[in-house]
Amino acid sequence: MTTRDKLIVGNWKMHGNHAANADLLQGILAARPFVAQAAVCVPFPYLSEAAVALANSGVNWGAQDVSAHEQGAYTGEVSAAMLHEFGCRYAIVGHSERRALHGESDQLVADKAKAALARGITPIVCVGETLAQRDAGETEAVVKRQLSAVIHTLAHCIGEIVVAYEPVWAIGTGRTATPEQAQAVHAVLRAQLAAASAHASSMKLLYGGSVKPDNAATLMSQPDIDGALVGGAALKAADFVAIIRAAA
Ligand code: PEP
Repeated sequence: MTTRDKLIVGNWKMHGNHAANADLLQGILAARPFVAQAAVCVPFPYLSEAAVALANSGVNWGAQDVSAHEQGAYTGEVSAAMLHEFGCRYAIVGHSERRALHGESDQLVADKAKAALARGITPIVCVGETLAQRDAGETEAVVKRQLSAVIHTLAHCIGEIVVAYEPVWAIGTGRTATPEQAQAVHAVLRAQLAAASAHASSMKLLYGGSVKPDNAATLMSQPDIDGALVGGAALKAADFVAIIRAAA
């Protein structure tokens, strides 16, 4: 069996300001060293500040989105090349909020993942079903369809991405998938990746959806759960640090 280092990624969403971000980063840095890998995905305006604060700290940073386009007349978009100039390590793509609120299609998400990888940025590709889809027994079909677009678009590079399984019904709701429910979907995703890549066993599959200090260890003890994508609990240094430690 391959051992995979755990990875904990905080998704700050559209939260924060200069002072709060500085406090949060300071609180995280003060708790080092960590056994698990850690990263924070911060809003675009604060990326360069995060880059300075986290330089040589062992804690990585990333963006919450990236354009599928290289450059051009795309008002409001931020390219992978721009992020790369600041040393960006990760870009979340296909978060359910972007799929739902900004109409992002499976193919657009795949194109964003491709644009990120082309600049050496690891895309964290989010997949996940809604409650209605779960209740209709469509969970497996939905996540496979979402991942399939990325597999076909990235072809032999698919082994370089991180996948985050985030059931939409568990995001920001306080309702978490049970470790067994999450593991079952992770196993499906890993099998799908294995059919496409010889590197599937070393790829990181994160779980996201109301991960908190008190449920993190059990979730991450599942064989195919290699870490967490954390929203709300990533905004409090003590909680985020507790989750990073729970991964060890
Ligand atoms: C997320 O936004 O990716 C997320 C998982 O949020 P929360 O942890 O708040 O459910």
